[in-house]
Amino acid sequence: MAHTVIIGAGTGGLPAAYDIKKSMGRGHEVTVISNTPLFNFVPSNPWVAVGWRDRQDVTFELEKYLARKNIRFIDSGVSRINPDDNSLIVGGGEEVRYDYLVIATGPELAFDEVEGLGPEHHTHSVCTLPHAEEAYRGWQKFVKNPGPIIVGAVQGASCFGPAYEFAMIMDTDLRRQKIRNQVPITFVTSEPYIGHLGLSGVGDSRGMLESEMRNRHITFYTNSRVKRVEPEKMVIEQLDHKGEAMDEEELGFSYSMMIPAFRGIECVSAVGEELVNPRGFVKVDEFQRNPAWKNIYSLGVCIAIPPVEATPVPTGTPKTGYMIESMVTAVAHNIVHDLNDEEPEAVASWNAFCLADMGDTGVAFIAVPQIPPRNLTWFKRGRWVHWAKVIFEKYFIRNMKRGSTEPLYQRLACRLMGLNRLR
Ligand SMILES: Cc1cc2nc3c(=O)[nH]c(=O)nc-3n(C[C@H](O)[C@H](O)[C@H](O)COP(=O)(O)OP(=O)(O)OC[C@H]3O[C@@H](n4cnc5c(N)ncnc54)[C@H](O)[C@@H]3O)c2cc1C
Repeated sequence: MAHTVIIGAGTGGLPAAYDIKKSMGRGHEVTVISNTPLFNFVPSNPWVAVGWRDRQDVTFELEKYLARKNIRFIDSGVSRINPDDNSLIVGGGEEVRYDYLVIATGPELAFDEVEGLGPEHHTHSVCTLPHAEEAYRGWQKFVKNPGPIIVGAVQGASCFGPAYEFAMIMDTDLRRQKIRNQVPITFVTSEPYIGHLGLSGVGDSRGMLESEMRNRHITFYTNSRVKRVEPEKMVIEQLDHKGEAMDEEELGFSYSMMIPAFRGIECVSAVGEELVNPRGFVKVDEFQRNPAWKNIYSLGVCIAIPPVEATPVPTGTPKTGYMIESMVTAVAHNIVHDLNDEEPEAVASWNAFCLADMGDTGVAFIAVPQIPPRNLTWFKRGRWVHWAKVIFEKYFIRNMKRGSTEPLYQRLACRLMGLNRLR
């Protein structure tokens, strides 16, 4: 009997648990260790931050659903990993031994890298459910006494989609409340141009998103570094294409949401350079295995991947649902190959697929592969994207409760493209 332990039960970890349990078959054990009892559908968090969704809509208790699939669940989090001993320590002090370990811990949010950034200081975040709930409390106060908004993503960020989404969602919400005329919105980003998205653009993402910004009267600063945030004031520096500082600006705000840079979580980083890169992201080979400890696999936002290109202000590459889903499939297959004393052969497809909601409309894009030059790029705008995202949220949460291993992101991307497979 082999025992697989999965750390993290988010967008990657939970489907990985179902897939690995099914693939390993009877007689093998799977344990999921999370630092929260809840599953959170993270892509809905921007809606939580304006009150369009609440905790009940976007979360569920993990234990009950995992138990139905005979998967053990521990919710006290992992505090230490001992890879040479094939063991780890959970929050309560218990030692858990494993044959295979899957690290799916998502990101640690590096607010401390910019003075004054983050919910403990002067800007909001939509990256986690508690942050989005806090952002909504701030939003309720803000709409009673509106003023300027700054929204965007700081230097080193990789997850740009939610910054654009939240800018447009706030715009839509303010228009519905008939107070948009009292709110100047400024978008500040480390991307070299609007629509870069950490992907060197996708199709006409630059033209379409710039046009969307102009239509919604959202002014923007690109190639920007946030120097510091003070109460109701953000100091930014714009760089030229060589990375030299051009202008410093002080922007006033009454409400701000900025996506931070990501790094690996502490207990994973603490293992050291054989497991992680300097940012604490897990090093993996093409089969999602760590090169030093081949019984350790990793998937999702916590893996190390290189940036698509060097940009004047550092930016990272986003890791989105489609890629994550494909990493899950690869990990499940490769664990089974190893169990059967075979060489691993499943490789994830690093394609980018995103449905970005804009409140009343949305943009969808597909990039195959995600690093240019590409075989396929596709970018479309329309009200249907907003509704597709609403339906996708329901299906994803339903599937996660059922323990389904259906690859939903891949199904939807293929259906939109009219293809059986994206390559
Ligand atoms: C606001 C937002 C919106 C996004 N929207 C989209 C979208 O629309 N489409 C898309 O394709 N991608 C989107 N993404 C990108 C990506 O798909 C998500 O970030 C996704 O949730 C990443 O999945 P993950 O499993 O790697 O990490 P997560 O879903 O963050 O899961 C990691 C889990 O590990 C747990 N954990 C952390 N530390 C420990 C520990 N010590 N012990 C045990 N457990 C631990 C966390 O609590 C969490 O539950 C979005 C990202 C953000 C932040």
